[in-house]
Amino acid sequence: MSYDSSNIFAKILRGEIPCKKVYEDDFALAFHDIQPEAPVHVLVVPKGEFVSFNDFAERAKPEFIAGYMAAVQKTSALLGVVENGYRLITNHGADASQSVPHFHVHILGGKQLGKLLP
Ligand code: AMP
Repeated sequence: MSYDSSNIFAKILRGEIPCKKVYEDDFALAFHDIQPEAPVHVLVVPKGEFVSFNDFAERAKPEFIAGYMAAVQKTSALLGVVENGYRLITNHGADASQSVPHFHVHILGGKQLGKLLP
């Protein structure tokens, strides 16, 4: 699947659509999910054209992957969920119901999250 720059996260990265920003650096922009599924639900979106985790892991440079992972950790720390715990989710493709074709990690927390799948 090739990258389509008309996706909603690409528009947010370009500043064409607003977001509730939590954290930003050279590697990523983190913002609150518009339909939160937990008291804390934030998306960490890399500043690069990657369709999904699979594409990111295959094509991103090691330094960029490291910078992105650090951005996920910094965002979690800013959200105050490190001590009590948080869950990271990333969806790749149809079986995972990925709805936005720009790689992102969900940070979920702020309550006991229970089982991995409902
Ligand atoms: P996924 O299903 O893993 O691709 O997740 C996409 C997520 O993006 C969903 O949880 C949506 O609620 C969220 N989302 C869609 N549009 C926006 C937006 N404009 N701002 C913030 N979150 C959004």
